[in-house]
Amino acid sequence: MRKPMIAGNWKLNKTIAEACELSSDLSKCLANFEEVDIVIAPVFTSLTAVAATIKNTPIKLAAQNCYPEESGAFTGEVSPLMLKDAGCEYVIIGHSERRQLLEETDSFINQKMIKTLEAGLKPILCIGETLQERENDEMLNVLATQIKGGLANLSATQMSDVVIAYEPVWAIGTGKTATDEQAQEAHSFIRGLLQGMFTQEVAFATRILYGGSVKPTNVDGLMAQADIDGALVGGASLKAEDFIRLVRFEKA
Ligand code: PEP
Repeated sequence: MRKPMIAGNWKLNKTIAEACELSSDLSKCLANFEEVDIVIAPVFTSLTAVAATIKNTPIKLAAQNCYPEESGAFTGEVSPLMLKDAGCEYVIIGHSERRQLLEETDSFINQKMIKTLEAGLKPILCIGETLQERENDEMLNVLATQIKGGLANLSATQMSDVVIAYEPVWAIGTGKTATDEQAQEAHSFIRGLLQGMFTQEVAFATRILYGGSVKPTNVDGLMAQADIDGALVGGASLKAEDFIRLVRFEKA
């Protein structure tokens, strides 16, 4: 069975001291909680300090982005190898904020996926449609393009380290969550795409997280859906109490 994952994307928030305070609070409350994979993604500058606070706990560290080169003349960028060196196990790739604000394309995202896996890190690939795409009935096409583009040239073996996050752009940071049924429909479609691209085993084993205004009040219904294996959480991951409640979800 797929182990659930609750991942907190802290985005551009928290100084090193604030990040350490939150990760220490989470460490204390979730010290022995093994039923769910718990992941937190602070900003680059906090990674090593946060890594120290979560050492010997089940909480795993993620970066929010990487550059698809090991080293070299790429001013301002950070490589997957460097993230591993800083204590990361996961990297969020292709978040819609980066797709929109920084114009990241599926082929650039695919390069990041490949380099991340080569470095021994696990990518969390974000995909999702905008409101306009949904209203124009383009949602399934958009998801198919992003899945096929993002996962191009990956092997079935590599897929065992890949996590997908379905994040409808209209639900991110807006307070509007997809209904349980809308989310399940998209997740089931994505799983079907994975079966077509890889194998039935890969499709069954790959974790697909939902993201978009997940909160303590809606997590239980979402997590009860057959194809929802966890959540990628922005706003509600910044408060220890809320994030702990998400990790301790109870299927409705
Ligand atoms: C996100 O940033 O991935 C996200 C889902 O944000 P929020 O939970 O705030 O909607």
